[in-house]
Amino acid sequence: MIKFYRCFYPDKDGVGKNQKVQYTFVYENICESKRLYTDNIKGMATGKCIYCGKKFEGRADKKYCSDACRTSYSNDLKTRENEEIRSIRLSLRKNRNILKKLIGKKQDQIIPKETLEHNGFLFDYHTHFFTSELQKNVFTFCYDYGYREIGNKKFKIIRRWGADH
Ligand SMILES: [Zn+2]
Repeated sequence: MIKFYRCFYPDKDGVGKNQKVQYTFVYENICESKRLYTDNIKGMATGKCIYCGKKFEGRADKKYCSDACRTSYSNDLKTRENEEIRSIRLSLRKNRNILKKLIGKKQDQIIPKETLEHNGFLFDYHTHFFTSELQKNVFTFCYDYGYREIGNKKFKIIRRWGADH
């Protein structure tokens, strides 16, 4: 993705105030951005490889100095994404196992909030919501185990395939 911005702050690379500057975004809001100067002739630009940082000349939209850098960059990105997904999955699984342990063999269980906290429950991580049919209570789920705050700093834990709550 390529976006144009007006430069408001003259910088050390010699870009003047109000000069149009072209940025290439690799991944919106995240990752590196590369600056290419639009005053280069015939669409040629001096760029910096977003992987190794080496300077090179090429088409204005070129991001890598070589195919090797393109491949390495793409692999690194995939690794980072996989690490992020793995870490979220571990948090969800941890929550699910805490709920499973606390409910025991029952269909539902009421426990104090601090019991969840002492077990290291991560309240920010959940998979979906479920509204019970009869009483329209909304439960927050981590896979097949759900919970709902019922007041007085207490939580009700349920199993997905239990009776209606
Ligand atoms: Zn490179």
